[in-house]
Amino acid sequence: SCVRSYPDFPQPGIIFRDIFSVMQQPTVFADLMDVLIDYVKAKHKDIDAIIGLDSRGFLFGPIICLQLGIPFVPVRKKGKLPGDLMSTTYQLEYGSDVFEVQKDSFKPGDKIVIIDDLLATGGTMSASVDLVKKNGGVVEECICIIEIDDLKGRNKLKVPFKSFIQF
Ligand code: AMP
Repeated sequence: SCVRSYPDFPQPGIIFRDIFSVMQQPTVFADLMDVLIDYVKAKHKDIDAIIGLDSRGFLFGPIICLQLGIPFVPVRKKGKLPGDLMSTTYQLEYGSDVFEVQKDSFKPGDKIVIIDDLLATGGTMSASVDLVKKNGGVVEECICIIEIDDLKGRNKLKVPFKSFIQF
């Protein structure tokens, strides 16, 4: 009930679930972060990094990383990251894009949790899983706060998936 919904945004037929509306309610935001941090702390005692997806994965990943004392790694849309990169193309619920990650941002064999605000078709998350695997990382789990469950995006993922709110 704390997630504001916008029908027909950014295009007809999409109901946009706005995670920023949660961040504008400080006690709800604090509760959400507690839930996320407790979950990751209990389930992933020895992960090496959290990867956040451009752009709303950047809101939550770093806060969890600070609590766990582990690095935060961004996966970004094409053209935003410097240095040697790995890249992959992905489909959105609306459109397609290219994701990149810095090759030296984690080591082969590193255990990774990937986080984003929302899972819809699963295209973004599954492309990110492929990108991390291509770079030698081991994806322990993908986490989204919100899941649009009738799109069955989680079936695209060949790794464990956790969501906290389902629409
Ligand atoms: P998908 O690749 O279809 O799973 O789409 C997930 C990505 O697109 C996430 O990064 C979301 O932030 C964004 N997204 C897709 N659908 C929605 C939606 N209905 N409301 C808010 N964000 C969405």
